[in-house]
Amino acid sequence: MNLPPSHLRNLDYSVVQQCMHCGLCLPTCPTYDATKLERNSPRGRIALMRAIADGEMEATKGFADEMYFCLGCLACMTACPAGVNYAELFERARAEAEESGALKNPKRNLLRALMLRWLFMDLRRLRTLGRAIRLYQQLGLQRLARGCGILKLLPRRWRELEVMTPAIQPRFSADLIAPVSPSRGAKKYRVALLTGCAQDLMYSDVNRDTAEVLARNGCEVATPVRQSCCGSLHAHNGEWNLAQELARKNIDQFPPEQFDAIISNAAGCGSHLKHYATLLAEDPVYHARARLWDVKLKDIHEWLLEIGLDSPRAQGAPAQTVTYHEACHLCHGQKITAAPRQLLRAIPRLTLVELPESAWCCGSAGIYNLLQPEMANQLLDRKLGHIVSTGAQIVATGNPGCLAHMTNGIRRQGLSVRLVHPVTLLAEAYRKERLGD
Ligand code: SF4
Ligand code: SF4
Repeated sequence: MNLPPSHLRNLDYSVVQQCMHCGLCLPTCPTYDATKLERNSPRGRIALMRAIADGEMEATKGFADEMYFCLGCLACMTACPAGVNYAELFERARAEAEESGALKNPKRNLLRALMLRWLFMDLRRLRTLGRAIRLYQQLGLQRLARGCGILKLLPRRWRELEVMTPAIQPRFSADLIAPVSPSRGAKKYRVALLTGCAQDLMYSDVNRDTAEVLARNGCEVATPVRQSCCGSLHAHNGEWNLAQELARKNIDQFPPEQFDAIISNAAGCGSHLKHYATLLAEDPVYHARARLWDVKLKDIHEWLLEIGLDSPRAQGAPAQTVTYHEACHLCHGQKITAAPRQLLRAIPRLTLVELPESAWCCGSAGIYNLLQPEMANQLLDRKLGHIVSTGAQIVATGNPGCLAHMTNGIRRQGLSVRLVHPVTLLAEAYRKERLGD
């Protein structure tokens, strides 16, 4: 039978047929755990994808809804003994869902066009929006709007989204980090730092801390002012062509030939950034450079441990306990689990206590918490319950999405724990060390 081409049909068939239906992934899947329905499980979703690849089924609205109910957390990939590449299947399936038009409606089309095709394709636009939100927050208008009850006039969904508006940093990365930060001490490596999109708006301080920590560990850090989104948002939301366009831009802006490593401190971005060669597999101009790019792309924890992290010297800081939440795209997407723990253990007077279900998704999952708030909040409550059970004063995690989502939950529940990127804790320890020099 001659089937028309499609994202799933174009995919190497060995990827589609790899699942042997053993079901070992089912207990690790948060959506299956919540509903106990086969169609909400990895095995069920892969069966749907295969039916489309085999031409037995079209991409219907039911299929598209199912693909958007999946968190893309990749816990199933860690559990799978057959090595099913769920990450690639998931991205292709969402692209298939978008191409089918099954979810199209004017409101959704407009929002997607604004966000994916306009806002995140040029970060100057995103920063302009960030500045406007910052002004709204700094002038006290947000507090006023929340206090006077005017927000009750908004539709319920808008009110829910308003509550989730992140705090925008007073200064973005380009104002905090020099285009080239010299290494402190002998220069051993030349690295580039990706400052991200949402990360730059919400956690530019983490970017500054990352640059400081790298410099303290013998790296000269290039942080170009002009940067692009990594494209993970586009790839995870069915915009394959835009994701490819952004991958090419990034390779041009950060020529991999010029650096020992290209550093990401955002787990979700890093997981996507390490697969540009797959994304550009059929691009004759960029594929070879994309392969080199993938080799050079390093998560910050991974890189620091690889080059031999220089532990901060002990100082008189008060003893504290920290627990570690594993961002899905760090532990499942990049298989990095030991390095962040080693980094935390290297900090004087910090005691790491293990978090139960540390690798279970918190519900953030890119923009999943905006699209599927009910499931996202269920997962958030489960995560916060475990955090409370540890009694830790600090929760560390290496992804801006998790940080923002959990910040909202912590505020809502009135918990007194500090939520922070591991690199910030390390940067603080180095600063204390300098004060004691
Ligand atoms: S990515 Fe996560 S939510 Fe989706 S099928 Fe796999 S385990 Fe389940
Ligand atoms: S995805 Fe892997 S673990 Fe899940 S049913 Fe298929 S082969 Fe088994």
